[in-house]
Amino acid sequence: MAVITAGARPFSASTHQARLRHAAAQAVARGLDALLITPSPDYLYLLGYSAPALERLTCLLIPAHGTPSLVLPNLERPLPASELGALADHLEFLIWGETDDPFRLVKAALGDARRVGVQDQMWARFVLRLAAILDPVELVEAGPAISALRRVKEPVEVERLRAAAAAADRAMAAITAERLSGRTEAEVSARISELLREAGHQTADFAIVGSGANSASPHHSPGERVIGVGDAVVLDIGGTRDGYASDTTRTAFVGEPPPEFREMYAVLQGAQNAAVAAVAPGIAAREVDRAAREVIEAAGYGEFFIHRTGHGIGLEVHEEPYIVASNAEHLEVGNAFSVEPGIYLPGRWGARIEDIVVCGEAGPDRLNLSSTDLFLVD
Ligand code: ZN
Ligand code: ZN
Ligand code: ZN
Repeated sequence: MAVITAGARPFSASTHQARLRHAAAQAVARGLDALLITPSPDYLYLLGYSAPALERLTCLLIPAHGTPSLVLPNLERPLPASELGALADHLEFLIWGETDDPFRLVKAALGDARRVGVQDQMWARFVLRLAAILDPVELVEAGPAISALRRVKEPVEVERLRAAAAAADRAMAAITAERLSGRTEAEVSARISELLREAGHQTADFAIVGSGANSASPHHSPGERVIGVGDAVVLDIGGTRDGYASDTTRTAFVGEPPPEFREMYAVLQGAQNAAVAAVAPGIAAREVDRAAREVIEAAGYGEFFIHRTGHGIGLEVHEEPYIVASNAEHLEVGNAFSVEPGIYLPGRWGARIEDIVVCGEAGPDRLNLSSTDLFLVD
């Protein structure tokens, strides 16, 4: 799901101007005459403010050459003035009134464009209206052009991600210091949401709590099961801080874990460390997945690691690049993603360890700094 957040402070106008220029360059490189970006994380990324996605058309039009324009309903005209700051001087405004047809404005602004990228999450009703009025213009996904920018985090973005990760670490430290036994998963999940906010997130977006046999279900939805002694508890938590997402997982055990669980956990920790250590510029994303999977397979748990190793993170909690066996793309400096192998024994227990890692010049920059050891809790 798209995370369009409260509290997403814009960066400087020059940062956003550069992003608009780079988006235009991406359009050129991909043979597109323009990009049409409706309210979405891409819109937020480019302009620094998140407009509501509503039935009235709001659309950023980035031509391959020339000045970008913003198609806006008249009643939202005051918004960009306050939200865009100095960036407003570098945009043309195409304002439409309640009885105007905004799609005609778009058509006129596109001139003789032949191939146009549309934002991936644009509403079907807009895409269909555009397709009809622009015919025979070819509409294609703008996703790859914008993702090429968003997947390489600027240093200011890495610092936002680092602050979000630190806040998630504080929430994790707080919940693992509490007694978990005797509480339901849902209660612990609600408590984590509170802790995420107290630790500095503006939004608490998820708090997976999987206890006992539920820990073997990676995306378990916390329910009424009461946590007890002898349970493994997988805690996967995250929110947003200043617009950027956090996402971290730790595994706790209530009471003394049996040797079999400890042995499995040691394998998982070894796998997670190996995958983090594999991160470097020029390495294929799938090699990071491979590094985790090899360790888990060698220990005989291969069939119980049932998901990819990770996903990119930024304005959205899941974005490119994906750390999956099928992804041959090479990592670049500034890619930010999770490294989160897990082992899940159906009906028994499971464990996962998740950190956010940035690909740095010299290798991995781990943003989550809490210990990856098994947390022993009451
Ligand atoms: Zn997940
Ligand atoms: Zn997670
Ligand atoms: Zn994740």
